[in-house]
Amino acid sequence: MHNLNQKTVKNKINFNGVGLHTGANVNLSINPALPNEGILFKRTDLKENNIIIPSIFNVTSANFCTTISNNFGVSVSTIEHLMGALFILGVDNAVIEIDNHEVPILDGSAKIFIDKIIETGFDVSSEPIRIIKINNKIELKDGSKFISLEPNNINFEIDYQLEYKNPRIGNQQNKINVYEDDLFDIYNSRTFCLYEDIENLKKLGLAKGGSLENAIVVKQNDVLNESGLRNNKEFVNHKILDCIGDIYLSGHKIIGKLKCVHGGHKLTNQLLRNVFRDKSNFSVIEIKEKNLPSSYINRSYLKSIA
Ligand SMILES: [Zn+2]
Repeated sequence: MHNLNQKTVKNKINFNGVGLHTGANVNLSINPALPNEGILFKRTDLKENNIIIPSIFNVTSANFCTTISNNFGVSVSTIEHLMGALFILGVDNAVIEIDNHEVPILDGSAKIFIDKIIETGFDVSSEPIRIIKINNKIELKDGSKFISLEPNNINFEIDYQLEYKNPRIGNQQNKINVYEDDLFDIYNSRTFCLYEDIENLKKLGLAKGGSLENAIVVKQNDVLNESGLRNNKEFVNHKILDCIGDIYLSGHKIIGKLKCVHGGHKLTNQLLRNVFRDKSNFSVIEIKEKNLPSSYINRSYLKSIA
């Protein structure tokens, strides 16, 4: 039953674009990798110490975007939309080669990554997939922010809520079942910012590559992008995409239920560190046809888990 086996991409897939924060022109490629290799980043502009593992414990900054670093201080930032695309498509193994330190932002969503990976196709190995099953509920509060991860039977559900003072964004909530739902609106949703925050971001040396081509800009009640929004809940849907990408830094797909109110990369990472610090909080299970209850096999969404 090969949709329960580990997948990689069929061929090298090339991307080129600017980094949202650095503004630098970047070449990135997704390359096939062996079973059980996982996802890893390789900085091709460096000759040594250039491998960086996207692990929650390698996150060195989670302000504005997710940055991972290796022990030599070599980093890659804004990895979350690419990681979200790999999670959504069930790519277990891939080597991401990149010649700079920020993943290109492309259109601000994960759509271009997803479309090109699907177009290239997958190579399915004979190795079973591994999934993390959450055993205990862990939660975290930080003022008005809240996040929790708890056990679930066989799905991964995300319930996400935004609370913005800005009237156009306001309070948005969406609840999805990652393995059952059509995730088009999630991976098609773009990153966003408030018009009044742009100056501040630039002062911090950030958003140098930002434009209306790769981000939604909201000014009071208005969306400044000419074509408007791509879907009714684009703001919260983008946050869910970020969350899926950040979750994939746990190394595998997940069975559990995540709830979040007004969170972000930092809160997600803090929660995951608390979960994975203690081995009793989770189990890593191998999904093989023979150890699945029959009800499991008959469920069509297993196609999307694998
Ligand atoms: Zn994002």
